[in-house]
Amino acid sequence: MSKGKLFVISGASGVGKSTVLKLVMEARGDLKFSVSATTRPPRPGEVDGVHYFFVTKERFEEMIRQNAFLEYDAHADNYYGTPRAQAEEKMEQGLLLLDIEPMGAKQVKQAMPDATLIFIMPPSRQELERRLRSRGDTSEEQIQLRLERAAWEMEQRKWYDYVVENDDARRCADEILTIIANLAD
Ligand code: 5GP
Repeated sequence: MSKGKLFVISGASGVGKSTVLKLVMEARGDLKFSVSATTRPPRPGEVDGVHYFFVTKERFEEMIRQNAFLEYDAHADNYYGTPRAQAEEKMEQGLLLLDIEPMGAKQVKQAMPDATLIFIMPPSRQELERRLRSRGDTSEEQIQLRLERAAWEMEQRKWYDYVVENDDARRCADEILTIIANLAD
């Protein structure tokens, strides 16, 4: 089993990243997922310690002071960060996958130049907007903010190592699995 390789995946909210990542994780037992800490409240169905560690702003800022994050960023009025100890422990066991946005990805690439950065694109802006609206748990204001943010995130794809398109979740997952296999096996 290969160990210690880091894969960073980014893609705008609504791009269908979680479905793709679920397929990727199911296909590779040696791939561990880094659970991020966030100050945003849980969405229905999200479990503390599984999808995120849900923490207060005070706790998050304390962790920043303790240098407990491999990277962190504030966006959409909340903090998101990768707990360093957990990431290092999981990398010891195998391959590690981070689902983080471009500001965090840049910090990781600076700290760990061997990390592989993969950006997931939506098939089109119209499709991204349709997917964001179909979620139903997001206000119009949030949708507009997320679309603006998505446009900025898509600009950042130019400095990623790989760009893949999520036209179909299974096909997109297979493309990512091929990238991982080529680098890790
Ligand atoms: P959501 O609130 O929809 O779960 O996530 C919003 C964004 O935060 C996504 O683009 C996701 O990739 C990003 N994100 C999640 N965890 C982290 C993290 O630990 N660090 C950074 N920089 N971004 C994160």
